[in-house]
Amino acid sequence: MPTYIVLLGPPGVGKGTQAEIIAESTGLPHVSSGDLFRENIKNKTDLGKLAQSFMNKGDLVPDDVTISMIRERLSRPDCLNGALLDGFPRTVVQADSLAGLLTEFEGKVNFVPYITASETTLIERLSGRWTCKAQGHVFHEKYNPPKKPGVCDIDGSQLYQRDDDKAETVTRRIQVYFSQTAPLIAYYRALGLLSDIDGAQSIEKVTADLLAVLRN
Ligand code: AMP
Repeated sequence: MPTYIVLLGPPGVGKGTQAEIIAESTGLPHVSSGDLFRENIKNKTDLGKLAQSFMNKGDLVPDDVTISMIRERLSRPDCLNGALLDGFPRTVVQADSLAGLLTEFEGKVNFVPYITASETTLIERLSGRWTCKAQGHVFHEKYNPPKKPGVCDIDGSQLYQRDDDKAETVTRRIQVYFSQTAPLIAYYRALGLLSDIDGAQSIEKVTADLLAVLRN
């Protein structure tokens, strides 16, 4: 049976960083809805144009297009054994659709690590974050600096600050998280799937806690 992991938590808590590490150690593909939208924006697709208008404001992209994008991604052969979902689901409608979709793939959500941190920490993390142009690897100017400023350690591409990591949009994204995504905490807790993880710890400690959850 395939294994599906949903990484839950507010923007800036380190889901992307952890997802890269966990994907490598579990062999599951890292499926990030935000990365998929950014890829569409880069390729100037219709979906990219639509998504950008919502992303720039810090709002969520409508559920229907988001769900069909994820459906297509999870249908690809590399997801045969499951996937590590980062940034999806973000609404209760998306979570219900995911459950239905995974039934079609003869699977279900197996683990929901929920990474948390205070709002002050999130704002500091998001506003100091630098992302690589080629593949979206993330760095932080203070907590996870690249070896050479402005250059990705992993693929050597240029680092940039995402438009939606700028101060005005960061506040909106956190508000949207609390109103639309936070209900998923109770949703997955009621299903007995949620494990709380303290995201204010070092990257290494968060990884260790995540791996402990997945081993159980
Ligand atoms: P992220 O890279 O996960 O921080 O996502 C960046 C932006 O992409 C979000 O602020 C939303 O505008 C959009 N987005 C990503 N995932 C979703 C989702 N599951 N549902 C709706 N919008 C999303």
